[in-house]
Amino acid sequence: MSDWTLDYLHFDPVQEGLREALCTLGNGYFATRAAAEEAEAGEIHYPGTYLAGGYNRLTTEIAGRGIENEDLVNLPNWLCLTFRPDGGDWFNLMAVELLDYLQTLDLEAGVLKRQLFFRDHQGRETRLLTRRLVHMAHPHIGAIEWRLRPENWTGRVLVRSALDGRVINAGVERYRQLASTHLVPLSTDIPYDDTVRLQVETCHSRLHIAQAARTRLRVNGQTLENMRQISQEAGYIAHELALDLAPGDEAVIEKVVAMHASRDWAIAEPGLAACQSVSRAGAFDDLLSSHQRFWKHLWQRCDVKLEGGGRAQMILRLHIFHLLQTVSPHIVDLDAGVPARGLHGEAYRGHIFWDELFIFPFLNYRIPEITRALLRYRYRRLEEARHLARKAGYQGAMYPWQSGSDGREESQQVHLNPKSGRWVPDDSSLQRHVNAAIAYNVWRYYEVTEDCEFLSYFGAEMLFEIARFWRSAATWNPQRKRYDIRGVMGPDEFHDRYPDAQTPGLDNNAYTNVMAAWVLARAVHVYDLIGERRRGELSDILGLEDEEISGWITLSQNLYVPFHADGIPSQFEGYEDLQEFNWAGYRERYGDIHRLDRLLEAEGDSVNRYKASKQADVLMLFYLFSAEELGDIFSQLGYAFPAELIPSTISYYQQRTSHGSTLSRVVTAWVLARSDRRQAWNLFQQVLESDIGDSQRGTTQEGIHLGAMAGSVDLIQRGHTGLEVRDGMLRLNPCLPEALPGLHMRLRFRGHWLELDVNHDCLTLTAPEGWGEPKRIMVCNETYSFSENQPLKLHYSAGARCWQKNKD
Ligand code: BGC
Repeated sequence: MSDWTLDYLHFDPVQEGLREALCTLGNGYFATRAAAEEAEAGEIHYPGTYLAGGYNRLTTEIAGRGIENEDLVNLPNWLCLTFRPDGGDWFNLMAVELLDYLQTLDLEAGVLKRQLFFRDHQGRETRLLTRRLVHMAHPHIGAIEWRLRPENWTGRVLVRSALDGRVINAGVERYRQLASTHLVPLSTDIPYDDTVRLQVETCHSRLHIAQAARTRLRVNGQTLENMRQISQEAGYIAHELALDLAPGDEAVIEKVVAMHASRDWAIAEPGLAACQSVSRAGAFDDLLSSHQRFWKHLWQRCDVKLEGGGRAQMILRLHIFHLLQTVSPHIVDLDAGVPARGLHGEAYRGHIFWDELFIFPFLNYRIPEITRALLRYRYRRLEEARHLARKAGYQGAMYPWQSGSDGREESQQVHLNPKSGRWVPDDSSLQRHVNAAIAYNVWRYYEVTEDCEFLSYFGAEMLFEIARFWRSAATWNPQRKRYDIRGVMGPDEFHDRYPDAQTPGLDNNAYTNVMAAWVLARAVHVYDLIGERRRGELSDILGLEDEEISGWITLSQNLYVPFHADGIPSQFEGYEDLQEFNWAGYRERYGDIHRLDRLLEAEGDSVNRYKASKQADVLMLFYLFSAEELGDIFSQLGYAFPAELIPSTISYYQQRTSHGSTLSRVVTAWVLARSDRRQAWNLFQQVLESDIGDSQRGTTQEGIHLGAMAGSVDLIQRGHTGLEVRDGMLRLNPCLPEALPGLHMRLRFRGHWLELDVNHDCLTLTAPEGWGEPKRIMVCNETYSFSENQPLKLHYSAGARCWQKNKD
């Protein structure tokens, strides 16, 4: 196995769903799961295709209630390609004897390949080589090449190439009781001799999708102009071609597909655009070379090299690959956010959560155009967030926990516990902290890019409206002379209410309150930063007055944060009174207790009664802020939080976390990166394995966990290098795990490229394209000036435990 390929040496029907998600190909505009071209949706395969921002709403009657859900729609299957020897069965991997099998996802080139050698019931032996791409440079194009070689037989072969719009959303078992038919067939036709076209529309959002598929055949290098049979019905159209083959012949079948949607820019209408795109597209090899070129450029920006390579390297690249396939530079021209499960499956219905927090840092330092575009997705939904706030009795903007097409709250109201078969209330939309995540992302984007235009225009408005929301959500508590934020949920979704409480919500979630204090202080800072003219404009538009700004300052200094008697921040007020959970007993009884909320509900108990978290909630603070920054926030709040409490806080919550979310291990690995490098590395390995090894047993096949994937790369990028921007200065403080000999990566900071090489002894930073002017960089609290002709080279001094200019 090279560290640029994900290889599967055997076909395994049980693993197929997982592999289909892991080998998905996409380009930020659309993505298609890696189901085999000849496969149909069923127990083994699920060939899903999803468009960024391609949602539709349906209503289902559940327990006498009409439940409305918005889903990322499974679009027509453009892959359909199969063959059969005359009189034989259509090709089916399950019905032949496999003599050789190799599936390879080539991460460098962005190509999915299969090499098959098989024998059918009649003893016919055939070799089939397949290649597939979803074009990174031409976002509307997908292409397939099949090379078919009979080894020991002669005869007529029928090839069928189709577009199938009869599909439904059936990728997630627990959603199967919900309405799932999103597509309405519009038309099928044959615009050119070698091309079929299918048009469909989503039933509610009226998204018009057109696909055109061109199928061409060559035998031994000769193009065949065969007669084609057409078969069609509502929502389906196929070309069937016949050819004669003998041993030693090679038939090459090329299928090139173009897909357009009514929301595309620079088109007259999708049907015409699909025809134009497909007729102008080159042959497979031409498409492959322009596709590879685009990937080469992406890798030049985005690769993170681990010295020693190996499996960790390959998985890290797989994670970068899926990140770029979900949010590529094409997103700049789309109105789309970043779905938590990628464009790789239907889990969480393609919704957008707070996971951007884990995804932005990698992109900020490489392709900030993408993060800017994702922030603009939020900005366009600011009005809806204002509406949500007003509806809930607040001011400012309250962004939804789950967002889809128009920015309304998309969280489900009930969810099915597969362990008990019961539909239970889902109050996760009380996670108001998503607002803080958006404000945080605005600020971190600005810090890395110094994009003042964005900050003053879009960013400031979002920040101010979010600050305003926090002010309206806080209430004065005269007993403790502090402000409370009541009735929320923190990131830990196991706790949604107090034990036996009738109404959901918890008071003073530490993470939420500290983040709110940070947002308020940041909003005040940005108010000063954006200059008089813009300040005046925004004050005018938003009706901001001095009294309100001083209210932000007061609140940012007086929010309440609960602490346990020993000084550890309490996850929320009252957490300390909950019962300890019997971790060992439950592990023994059930083995996998990631989702102990479901186990306990099935037992008639509730996880709300226990000190047990799905994910590290308080620890998020150590993930988002350096110890210095956090110290500043606590002192702004008037609390002493000595650095010595950090390790005991980590250890306390680590013992009480089931890691029911893949994000949890990212955070724990991060917070341990400095204090316990060995454990941090072990957790990093577990984060790497979470999707490729499907550590949550069955969830990855429903879509990758993009936050954890990006988080794993960020653990290397920032966690182990200490990379941060503070007070406008880039800072580094590498601390590599023993198991990692060194790393190399490129970074983009405020318009300049930097190359960082670091191992246990030496750190080298260069600016291959210059800095324009000498700049300063801080490593280990020492400031160095740095310019194009003056690379920075530092050595690690074990004695002083820091990086210095000269060797000890
Ligand atoms: C986690 C959330 C996350 C969501 C989407 C949930 O399981 O608890 O924090 O945002 O998955 O990834």
